[in-house]
Amino acid sequence: MFKGFTRFLQGPGERLRSLFGPEEASGPAAGPRIIPRSEHPVSRQHFSEAALKVLYRLHNAGYEAYLVGGCMRDSLLGKMPKDFDVATDATPEQVRELFRNSRIIGRRFRIVHVRFGREVIEVTTFRGTHGDDHGDHIAQQSEHGLLLRDNVWGNIQEDAIRRDFTVNAIYYSIADFSIHDFADGMRDIASRTLRLIGDPALRYREDPVRMLRAVRFAAKLDFHIAPETERPIAELAPLLLQIPPARLFDELLKLFMAGHGENTFRLLRQYGLFAMLFPETDEAMAELAWIEPLIEQALASTDQRIHEERPVTPAFLIAALLWGPVQRRQTALEANGMPPIPALQLASQQVLSRQLQHISIPKRFSLPVRDIWDLQQRLPQRRGKRALQTREHPRFRAAYDFLLLREAAGEIAPGLGDWWTAYQEGDEHEQRRLLEKAGTDAGPAGNSARRRRPRKRRRRSSPGPS
Ligand code: ATP
Ligand code: MG
Repeated sequence: MFKGFTRFLQGPGERLRSLFGPEEASGPAAGPRIIPRSEHPVSRQHFSEAALKVLYRLHNAGYEAYLVGGCMRDSLLGKMPKDFDVATDATPEQVRELFRNSRIIGRRFRIVHVRFGREVIEVTTFRGTHGDDHGDHIAQQSEHGLLLRDNVWGNIQEDAIRRDFTVNAIYYSIADFSIHDFADGMRDIASRTLRLIGDPALRYREDPVRMLRAVRFAAKLDFHIAPETERPIAELAPLLLQIPPARLFDELLKLFMAGHGENTFRLLRQYGLFAMLFPETDEAMAELAWIEPLIEQALASTDQRIHEERPVTPAFLIAALLWGPVQRRQTALEANGMPPIPALQLASQQVLSRQLQHISIPKRFSLPVRDIWDLQQRLPQRRGKRALQTREHPRFRAAYDFLLLREAAGEIAPGLGDWWTAYQEGDEHEQRRLLEKAGTDAGPAGNSARRRRPRKRRRRSSPGPS
């Protein structure tokens, strides 16, 4: 179905240039470049029925209605859009009146969600430029230029230049199926460039999350970030510290749970953004070489699961992202004489509470994170009924996967992971044999492979590595 697109993008340079305009032009054009239906490859077949229904109902009620944002960008790249954003001149209340199945959400940025079964279409009223009074407006900016609210209504032209990247400001009109390109986004699609509309430093100050969005889209779309869009990031990265933790949690899921986490992580580190999200992990990474491979592998396996459409949980990733600092603190507490179990408990608690100042982690995720960490101490203990009890813990599977990750990243010596693999796969007889082995084996599979403390009363049966 997308063959036409590939041809469109790979088409002769001349054709693209004539559509996209002169190379040197940049930033918002004076008016839109309008591309009639006969000259672009996007057809209604690429849009969901729900999206079309919303567009037509708005149109038939006399409002303007356009598809815009990710769905247009993805369609033009020949990818299946994952959701649809509609822009209109109808106010949220007017949209609400047209659709029974809708509700207004958001305060900072009021939009309407129109629901069709499991699909939600986001309908946004054209945003206007600040400073001019549109009566119904509420816009607020902090002393640093941070946009606290953005509910000034405007026209489509104003709406386009309020958007973040040129490739996100391409509109598809339901009135005549034409594309309206306000900021040379079509040209940037063709050259796979992510370019902020307007003055980049100003746009990042208005909303520092745009720095994360730049990296997220670059990783997801395999685009490069234009030099002037890239330049201010190093200096402005600390502005992310002003963003409410709840918003950063939403953004975190989009960064790491969308199938491109590993690439995204590399770019976040490259641009100095990761340190603003996970400061303690960033510090620990400078000291402990295994942290980076541990995180990369956790992200790589999450990416793979997403591509295979298998279930994923943020808890596993969060456990991996914060395990480095937990281990660093635990080591320090133990060095001060605290026994390992309370040291891990206290370290976990301290790391989570410091992290929560930056990114809020709902309890439904932080509790499993604690379980995954606690189980790391139980996995080496297999005598008597312990192995069976650990095996039956609801979070065993995640904790076992986490153990394999730690071994693969070189944090601990391999061995225990294989033991648990064999234990899970073995029949009763084999399990009994493994338990006996665990009872006598003092090698890495027999005890905690790391920081083993010599037992006081019992003689060690073999000198295994510590
Ligand atoms: P995807 O949904 O694939 O992650 P998207 O581009 O659709 O990508 P959304 O967060 O759904 O991203 O936003 C929809 C559109 O709203 C964007 O394409 C962009 O035009 C605009 N937008 C979203 N967030 C911002 C922002 N922080 N600043 C300016 N414009 C934004
Ligand atoms: Mg979207």
